[in-house]
Amino acid sequence: MKIFDERFLPNGDQKPEDYGVYPKSVHSAPNGETVFMARERESDVLIAPEQVGFIGARFTNQAGDACVKAPLNHENAALLRKIFPFASPRPVLGESRTFGVGDRLGIAAPGHLRALRRYDALPVLAQQSIRELNLTNRTYDDVLDRATFAVFREDWDRGFGADGDHLKTLDEVKYALSCGYTMITLDCGDRIRNNVGDMTDAQVGETYSPRPDWEKKYVGRRVTLDRGVSLEFDEASFARMALIYGDAIEFACEIYNALIKDAAVDFEISIDETMTPTTPAQHYFVARELLDRGVSFASIAPRFCGEFQKGIDYIGDIDQFRREFLAHAAIAKHFGYKISVHSGSDKFAVFPIVGELTEGRFHVKTAGTNWLEAMRLVAMKDPGLYREVHRFALSAFDDACRYYHITGNPRNIPNVDKIADDKLPVLFEQNDSRQLIHITYGMILSERSADGSFVFKDRLNRLWRENDEAYFDLLDAHIGRHLELLYRGFENI
Ligand SMILES: [Zn+2]
Repeated sequence: MKIFDERFLPNGDQKPEDYGVYPKSVHSAPNGETVFMARERESDVLIAPEQVGFIGARFTNQAGDACVKAPLNHENAALLRKIFPFASPRPVLGESRTFGVGDRLGIAAPGHLRALRRYDALPVLAQQSIRELNLTNRTYDDVLDRATFAVFREDWDRGFGADGDHLKTLDEVKYALSCGYTMITLDCGDRIRNNVGDMTDAQVGETYSPRPDWEKKYVGRRVTLDRGVSLEFDEASFARMALIYGDAIEFACEIYNALIKDAAVDFEISIDETMTPTTPAQHYFVARELLDRGVSFASIAPRFCGEFQKGIDYIGDIDQFRREFLAHAAIAKHFGYKISVHSGSDKFAVFPIVGELTEGRFHVKTAGTNWLEAMRLVAMKDPGLYREVHRFALSAFDDACRYYHITGNPRNIPNVDKIADDKLPVLFEQNDSRQLIHITYGMILSERSADGSFVFKDRLNRLWRENDEAYFDLLDAHIGRHLELLYRGFENI
């Protein structure tokens, strides 16, 4: 950050605050030119002397310098990253604490950064799956560019990551890497055999062809780890785990060797999208096989016991979660990677356990929470618009349910037309309505009228822009609560 000179402005009679200069965005380029960001009604702009190279409208500032007012587009984001390395993502998972904050709308990062400033965790600001890109009609470039501009605007110089989340194919991984993403989360779910749980031992025996190297390494063995964790591999359970995870291990090796090995990125193995929880022994098996085959990775996301549903707190037996998480954490510590907790939005009941049992080394991903906070803001600021969206969400609920496993039931949601304006935000304290709004986000944002215009999207964007400070405050409090509970788990150890 540098001291702002009013002569950098286009008009002589304006103060920086009248012109909308973001105070923290004032930076000095390597050649000494001042680059900053300012707010216009519809969007923000970058302002810099012409020779810096941004593409935009030219003007002469009060000091008589030829300048450019540049829109926040991809070309200008790429140049910004080049000039200011802190605006580029980098691998961050090696840090003890990292926190993924997917931002589906591309407007939440300043709020996320406010909460993160109070903690030492590094953020992964760009974090989207291909499905999320499709539902929001965005690209990996756009998602990363929004993070870059937010980091520049807020002067966040501690570093951040960009996660191609839940990627399932070679082409998807290539796509994220080509856009400069610094983390690849490989979703092995399609290669995990989900029907093994229903097989009898005899059926397993018929399907599984034993591999001598695996048999020798695992069957009949007991592995003892820190904190009294011990894992046993008997013949029957091993045959099952080899059947469930054999292909997934193969797939992760292929992707690693083809694309990850020589790239400086964080590699995360995601085995959480399965029908049944990952047992500690299964987790150990997958990790050890990958490591023995030379795959190096930053984190594994197992599927934990209980339910991590979208947008609501943990559902399940906390004592069992604690017992199993202890084993998962001990395995990760033993091999030297981090446990990654997916669908981490609002899982307040388990955060202290995650913080404690990982001894403060974790990656947690949240995504939907900022969307719900954005809709809470709509309920607070424009009750009429909120009711419209809510009614639409109810009509879209059955369709949206096909993509999500949730227990929320629209019948438990009070009639939105009978709730007083000032009570509407209370809907966001209720699990059924949280899930209703959560799972219908893609449909809400993409719904169009007969003339092709968006039914809600433009009005929502306008409201969010006009009330962005209020939105950042909501996010600060909400993400702050996540971090506070995670840190509470280990800070007093
Ligand atoms: Zn996941």
